[in-house]
Amino acid sequence: MSDPDLAGLRDLAGLAERLAAVRSGIAAAAASAGRDERDIVTVVVTKFHPVTLIEQLVALGVHDVGENRHQEAQAKVEALAGLDLTWHFVGQVQGKKAKQVRAYADVIHSVDRASLVDALSSESDVIDCFVQVNLTDDPARGGVDPGLLDPLVERVLSTSGLRLLGLMAVAPLGEEPRRAFARVRELGERIRLLAPEAKFLSMGMSQDYPEAISEGATHLRIGTAITGNRPVPG
Ligand SMILES: *Cc1c(COP(=O)(O)O)cnc(C)c1O
Repeated sequence: MSDPDLAGLRDLAGLAERLAAVRSGIAAAAASAGRDERDIVTVVVTKFHPVTLIEQLVALGVHDVGENRHQEAQAKVEALAGLDLTWHFVGQVQGKKAKQVRAYADVIHSVDRASLVDALSSESDVIDCFVQVNLTDDPARGGVDPGLLDPLVERVLSTSGLRLLGLMAVAPLGEEPRRAFARVRELGERIRLLAPEAKFLSMGMSQDYPEAISEGATHLRIGTAITGNRPVPG
C-alpha cells in the first residue's frame, strides 16, 4: 500500500472517530433533555471540503449534508448524483440564484426575505424550507428580524411551491447559546399559531449543539466537529 493510501485511511479513521463522538454527544444531550434522539436530524456541513469527504461520510452512514455556497453546492450535487443524499442549503441565497438552488437542494434553511420567497415560488414542485431568524442587531448576518417574522411566515404560507418546516438560527457571539436557542424556541411556538405544521427548529452547530438540543432543536448543522478543520476556501 502506498503512502497516500495510508494517509487516506488515517483520515477516514479520524472522521469515523469524530462522527462517533458527535453521535454520542447528541445521544447524551437528548437523553438529558428527555428527548428521543431519533427526532433529531444531523446535517453534516461539508462546505469547502472535497466530494471525497462526502463519500466517506456516506460510507459511515451519513444521509444529510449541508452546503452554504451555491456554485460549490451545485457542483457537488452533480458529482454525487448517484448517492442517496439529502442536500441542505444553509447559506444566504441570492435572488437571482434562487431557482437554481431550489433545483438541486432538498431543504433550504435560509429563507429570510419576501423577495426571496417570491423568487423561490414554483407551480411544479414543492421544496422544504426554514425561515432564518437573525438573533443579532447586524442585518448583514442573514435572517429576518424577529419583529418582521410573522409577515414573512405568512408570505411563505401563501406562496406555492414552499413547505415551511420551521425556523433556523445561528446563536450570536456574546450571548449564552442556550438563551439564544430559547428565544428561537419561543418564536417557533409563536409561528405555530400561523403554521401548525412548522414544528421544526434548525439550530446548533459544532460548539453549541448540546444547548440547542436542550431547547428543542430538530435539525443540527454540524461542520468542523465532524469534518475536522475546513480547508481554506478556494
Ligand atoms: C458552516 C456552517 C455551519 C457549521 O459550522 P461548524 O461551526 O463548523 O459546526 C452551520 N450553519 C451554517 C449556516 C454554516 O454556514
